[in-house]
Amino acid sequence: MSKHIDLHAHSTASDGTLTPTALLQHAYSKGMKVFALTDHDDTSGLVEADIAASNLGMQLVSGVEISVTWHKQTIHVVGLNIDATNENLQQGLAGLREFRRWRAQEIADRLDKSGIPGAFEAARALASGKSISRTHFAHFLIANGYAKNFKQVFKRYLVNGKPGYVSGNWAELADAVDWIKQAGGQAVIAHPARYRMSLTKLNVLLEDFKAAGGEGLEVVSGSHTLDEVQKMARLAAKYSLYGSRGSDYHGPENVYMEMDRLPAMPSDVIPIWHNWSTATVFN
Ligand code: AMP
Ligand code: MN
Ligand code: MN
Ligand code: MN
Repeated sequence: MSKHIDLHAHSTASDGTLTPTALLQHAYSKGMKVFALTDHDDTSGLVEADIAASNLGMQLVSGVEISVTWHKQTIHVVGLNIDATNENLQQGLAGLREFRRWRAQEIADRLDKSGIPGAFEAARALASGKSISRTHFAHFLIANGYAKNFKQVFKRYLVNGKPGYVSGNWAELADAVDWIKQAGGQAVIAHPARYRMSLTKLNVLLEDFKAAGGEGLEVVSGSHTLDEVQKMARLAAKYSLYGSRGSDYHGPENVYMEMDRLPAMPSDVIPIWHNWSTATVFN
């Protein structure tokens, strides 16, 4: 069953390149039945996604991916089955989008000083009215020949120590979990292996996350190797966290892994959807 479930993906409401409708159609074509839209710090794609899911006979899980700063490091916390009309959640997300606006200008100023003009206008146009993410700068830099692919553009320009990097000042971990819980959702640590943390530090993160009321760990992720999936399965068991499964799809140009190529959830993990009512789409 887990092969029909993908709980992490992006649309044009953040840094994905497909509209919510096109994203759901893509997910349908890859065999997905239960699908979460989890845009960065933004829930504005969910209404359209829900309509598209209904038309396709799929179940949309209302989600969000919240940017968090924990011990000076950026961590992503996915919220699943949130009530997107919740005021506390929306206030929190609005603050993060405010930081994104400031940061985008700052990134562009720094790129300008290192000889790359016009980045703000270009990134803003690519974001078409939504929040600007580093991915929009990446698209601009690749299109103008500064790098040949996403991996290279981030490494050269957009990570710590490089000309277009501005350190994050995102939500507190406990606040992000709290907003999700107040909105009736479940909090999940996204793509844990991507943080390149020592095992000791990852244990501290999971202890803090549990203490804050977090419930899930993205055991299966489009950016995890099979070894990392096994490692995260062990940590999920150690901390009694449910396992989640998400491709982190951003569109055809920037694929970590296609939805239909994600590994299955290891059988010893309790999936986060174990008590969800998913029956209608599986009958
Ligand atoms: P932001 O939240 O604006 O700082 O942007 C982070 C986003 O950049 C992530 O959600 C990814 O979509 C993308 N990203 C970060 N690192 C890479 C990378 N090495 N390759 C491709 N995309 C990346
Ligand atoms: Mn992204
Ligand atoms: Mn992420
Ligand atoms: Mn993501």
